[in-house]
Amino acid sequence: MPELPEVEALVQDLRGRLVGRAISRVDLAAFSALKTFDPPLHALHGTLVDDVTRHGKFLDVDASGVHLVIHLARAGWIRWRDEVPALPARPNSKNPLAARVVIDDPDLDVQPGLDITEAGTRKGLAIYVVRDPQEVEGISRLGPDPLDDAFTIDVLRGILEAEGRKQIKGVLRMQSIVAGIGNAYSDEILHAARMSPFKPANSLEDDDLQTLYDAIRGTLGDAVRRASGLAASELKGEKKSNLAVHGRTGQKCPVCGDVVREVSFADSSLQYCPTCQTGGKPLADRRLSKLLK
Ligand SMILES: [Zn+2]
Repeated sequence: MPELPEVEALVQDLRGRLVGRAISRVDLAAFSALKTFDPPLHALHGTLVDDVTRHGKFLDVDASGVHLVIHLARAGWIRWRDEVPALPARPNSKNPLAARVVIDDPDLDVQPGLDITEAGTRKGLAIYVVRDPQEVEGISRLGPDPLDDAFTIDVLRGILEAEGRKQIKGVLRMQSIVAGIGNAYSDEILHAARMSPFKPANSLEDDDLQTLYDAIRGTLGDAVRRASGLAASELKGEKKSNLAVHGRTGQKCPVCGDVVREVSFADSSLQYCPTCQTGGKPLADRRLSKLLK
């Protein structure tokens, strides 16, 4: 699932490719992906792209005041194509294509464009066409962006105190609390902070708070720096090869050499290093122990 660093890198890549060019048309291949109806999709046709930005994990293509907003969810991705087929993309359940944005460039003989795709059967990819990004509910509810200057340690303290005894792992990935952090980077941030994922949000002392704040900015900032300048096709591999614990159950922690463990959490699982994060003690799998009772 793309999170803040990958979406940021996609934004930078697309900004260079799209700004100043015109959208000739947008083909919708998966009708369920489009979540809005006014303005219609064809309001984008013939518009000039002014900017490409990001709100949390949402991508925002501003085309002369009409915004094409994309949320890639778990399995969505964007692929730039130097040449797209001349025939409009058609719905096809076997094809991962959800929508295609075709660019009109009078200097080129071919039409470039971008394919918005979604793999698998759990469809979550969402496309919105709006006049103001704040019309997208997920955007209007977003918490502060952790890489923004306005995200200070006092902002983080206020957020965590307001969440009471909730586990820090869950708090970090709630988009209404902090924007852009998902399952992978919350594991990585907590590993970098040497903090238990089950630590209650309001239990952090000042030292812990500073450590967590530095881990959030450091982990995401480093990931953005590594991802910047890479093409969309290279981003997934880049992310994977730099994760310390997320998705690495059974492998060695790169910091201490202990074995990375996994425990179920919410609708999926989390990974952590016992030596670095929980004083060497494995976390109890609550779901499993409930079943055994
Ligand atoms: Zn470790």
